[in-house]
Amino acid sequence: MPFTASATLARLPRTPLAYLPTPISPLSNLTRRLGGPELSIKRDDQTGLATGGNKTRKLEFLLGQAVEAGADTLITAGSVQSNHARQTAAAAAQHGLHCHLVLRGQPPEFPNGNLLLDHLLGATIHWTDEAAPYSRTIERVEEELFAAGSHPYIIPYGGSSPHGIMGYVAAMIEYAAQASALGAFDAHVFATSSGGTQAGMLLGAHLAGLGPETRILGISVDRPRDALAADVASLANQGAALLGVDWHIDARDILIDDGYCGGGYAVIGEPEREAIALLARTEGILLDPVYTARAMAGLLDLIRRGAFAATERILFWHTGGVPALFAFPGDLERAL
Ligand SMILES: *Cc1c(COP(=O)(O)O)cnc(C)c1O
Repeated sequence: MPFTASATLARLPRTPLAYLPTPISPLSNLTRRLGGPELSIKRDDQTGLATGGNKTRKLEFLLGQAVEAGADTLITAGSVQSNHARQTAAAAAQHGLHCHLVLRGQPPEFPNGNLLLDHLLGATIHWTDEAAPYSRTIERVEEELFAAGSHPYIIPYGGSSPHGIMGYVAAMIEYAAQASALGAFDAHVFATSSGGTQAGMLLGAHLAGLGPETRILGISVDRPRDALAADVASLANQGAALLGVDWHIDARDILIDDGYCGGGYAVIGEPEREAIALLARTEGILLDPVYTARAMAGLLDLIRRGAFAATERILFWHTGGVPALFAFPGDLERAL
């Protein structure tokens, strides 16, 4: 990694939140069941922050910024079952900050899954209309907090900002060291939505010297390829500027498959049910219904359609989300 970039990354404020490095394990039973390619899994569902997930890595840098700015309160936004909201609430609790969550939708009669955890972690929840943009409610909450004498810090949707993606720049450097011991993987497959994870991985892969032939394939859970690729490119390029790295990625060169969005965000269908049951029963590993099951369903379909040679080595990057399983009992019943 270029010295100036690593020195700049090391100088960015960072609050430890995750248990790192997360392990990489072979998926031997699943590999045998499918007849190849050789599958392994990186367990970012095991980052440890109130059941973990990919947002923990981003929050290390975002909380670093918030603390440096003298904030006493975090504000962020997401869907009812947002994993990002839950991990932000846990990070705030761990560091003695207040947390305000702007969640889209209707409060259910009994909070469950991530929402139950948000309550347990002490977050204040503000409900906003499905149709209204998050920004209006965020601004109102921010003004109220300012008026009450607090110092709020807004964490962007999905934790995807140039600072947030540094979590995945660091993750890729962590991974490169693991891959040099385990042998290189040909492709890396994971769920992508706000794009920060993929942006950080792409910049990190460049900095770790992994080479342009390293396939970093995001399975879109909810957005068309071109719009998402533009966001990923923009975040990755802003991240490069933040680290003072002379590197640029074009949206055309970003690998995103948007063929698995099904009925839309958090609409659970047969492919997700099959992926959840298959991973649970062959490997004892839990996927979440919204993100990682969709990404795994995409990977399974690509494998069955012959997108990978049987000898290729594929890394599935598990990004977390498991508490959401408990919010969809009706949709998952048919997988039982
Ligand atoms: C947020 C999230 C993602 C998507 O990450 P982005 O950085 O928003 O693209 C994937 N998986 C899980 C479980 C998530 O919570």
